[in-house]
Amino acid sequence: MRKKIVAGNWKMNTLPAEGVELAKGVVAGRGEVCSCVNFIVCPPFTHLAMVAEALKGSDVALGAQDCATEAKGAYTGEIAASMIAALGCKYVILGHSERRQYYGETSATLNKKMAQAYANGLIPIYCVGENLDEREAGKHFDVVKAQIEEVVYNLTEEQYKNLVIAYEPVWAIGTGKTASAEQAQEIHAYIRQVLTAKFGAAAQETAILYGGSCKPSNAAEIFAKEDVDGGLIGGAALKAEDFLAIGKGF
Ligand code: PGA
Repeated sequence: MRKKIVAGNWKMNTLPAEGVELAKGVVAGRGEVCSCVNFIVCPPFTHLAMVAEALKGSDVALGAQDCATEAKGAYTGEIAASMIAALGCKYVILGHSERRQYYGETSATLNKKMAQAYANGLIPIYCVGENLDEREAGKHFDVVKAQIEEVVYNLTEEQYKNLVIAYEPVWAIGTGKTASAEQAQEIHAYIRQVLTAKFGAAAQETAILYGGSCKPSNAAEIFAKEDVDGGLIGGAALKAEDFLAIGKGF
């Protein structure tokens, strides 16, 4: 049985006090959703300590949205994986398309970040996905394959067991356009095939999340697909009610 996961990527939204309220709302309503669903919230770095406090005693896990390529030292403005782990993070989102697109993150960058995440006991939520031009040119399979081969294939078998993948078509992120459930299943099954080629049967255990305008009204249809194991949620994760309703989609 693969893990069912609903992860909230708050991006650069909410002030700390608002983030605490949001986290408290998730904790308060969590009981209405099957305990089989693993909820994760990923606030901005500045909120992590306070949100960790708000999550105490609940089974809602904490994640960060990124970590540094280096362990520590003279890297002004960076946040080390050890720091977020020390604040109670269990997960870290890596390779989000916004980081690849706006901050120039490449596979080389991401290999270093993955190494830092594992060195500090964090589970990476590694994001892959094609942009609109690539989808229209029919290159989406090749794009996600390369994103996996260049980074995930470098993991040891032991590291691989602690990995979550998120497939997020860039054209569906924050646009209101969602991949159809069929489109999601098609590429999720393909991703699992690419993972199987390297890691064999262990790929059957890997949770592959869908992301991109996932909301209460479409989550159930998407999550019903065989190779979709949950969602990485942006906009709809900013309201506890919507975020929890997405969890009811299983
Ligand atoms: P969205 O973002 O749900 O707002 O489309 C998803 C993501 O980028 O993680």
